[in-house]
Amino acid sequence: MRHKSFTLCATALCFAIALGAQQKKGDLGFTDTPILPGQKWHVHDPDRPHPHVVTPGKEPGAAPSDAVVLFDGKDLSKWAQHSKGADSAKIVDAQWKVENGYFEVVPGTGDLFTRERFGDCQLHVEWAELAGVSGTSQARGNSGVLLMSRYEIQVLDPYNNPTYADGQASAIYGQFPPLVNPGRKPGEWQTYDIVFESPRFEGERLLKPAVFTVFFNGVLVHNHKEPIGAMVYRQVAKYTPHDPEEPLMLQEHHDHVRYRNIWIRRLAGYDLPEK
Ligand code: MG
Repeated sequence: MRHKSFTLCATALCFAIALGAQQKKGDLGFTDTPILPGQKWHVHDPDRPHPHVVTPGKEPGAAPSDAVVLFDGKDLSKWAQHSKGADSAKIVDAQWKVENGYFEVVPGTGDLFTRERFGDCQLHVEWAELAGVSGTSQARGNSGVLLMSRYEIQVLDPYNNPTYADGQASAIYGQFPPLVNPGRKPGEWQTYDIVFESPRFEGERLLKPAVFTVFFNGVLVHNHKEPIGAMVYRQVAKYTPHDPEEPLMLQEHHDHVRYRNIWIRRLAGYDLPEK
């Protein structure tokens, strides 16, 4: 036993001496380590740039310091709509109803879209069906979160509401059902946390499809899933070229659905600067 502990102590001492010799003075890390494959950095490189500091929200689900807050419970100033009727190209202030820290679809007014445009992003959305929601299948609390105004994560009552699988809540509408259904009852708040990579185009050619990773009430429902195109009904989706950034859209589908606490983080620009 004595021999074993002596060996352990000697090994620890050697390691400590080696650590002191190889560690840069006043810094942490090593420059005598191998280069990481495919990178320019040593293992534990002391010169590697550090990530930006981001202050997380105070409670789970609250916006971190680098998020664009799209709705903070007070007003719809970050959102707009198209005018109805002959003037439909005209952009007007959002007409949906704000009350008690949430806002609610006003059927007949049209879709809501953000005044700002976004590409690659992390998005947090909370939504709820009315406690007394009525209707069946796709006519029961239908709305939707459309990234780039095109790629829809379905909003629908997920609780005891039979419908086609690729149209249930959190489906990539018309393409992929969620992996599981973690939906709550009508009247209860639900969360979507979405990581989205926008598609890349070169002229008319698709270079890279979009990518969705989605958590529904904290449960993974899409894991790095590539939609096959923009949302369509009763057709096979396809890609049509569009700008690198487009407005985020919330769908008006004739039903009353509530939203609150919406924030988004642009993911472009987080590649660390090379030294
Ligand atoms: Mg929908």
